[in-house]
Amino acid sequence: MTKSNHIFDKIKDNPKLQKVNVGWATFDIVFKKGLKSGSSNCWGTCDFDTYQIHLEDKIESAPARETLFHEICHAYLELCGMGGEGEGEDEEYVYTSNERLTITVSRAIMMFARLNPELSKELLHEQG
Ligand SMILES: [Zn+2]
Repeated sequence: MTKSNHIFDKIKDNPKLQKVNVGWATFDIVFKKGLKSGSSNCWGTCDFDTYQIHLEDKIESAPARETLFHEICHAYLELCGMGGEGEGEDEEYVYTSNERLTITVSRAIMMFARLNPELSKELLHEQG
């Protein structure tokens, strides 16, 4: 039998991959069917009240990797003072320079990789 290379199957098979350490909190990765943000369907959410990253279970592997990393980035950018309240038209904007944004995002990615060596290897170094 061929082992699935889908990132969600890898995470479900390995409890060590089911948590994201962002330093100030550890987020649990939770899979849902029919995930919504407000009244709209969506592929992922990052819940700062419950410390959970929710992922739509029915995503192909490549966009699944991007969606999970997208939600992880939300958690890290919140930590860096770049989170915003609200969604859609009500979303609060964060204004910054290109240099400040680059410093913040590069440091956030380094922190993610250092605090989550196994998850970052599976998520960013592998494909499928
Ligand atoms: Zn987002």
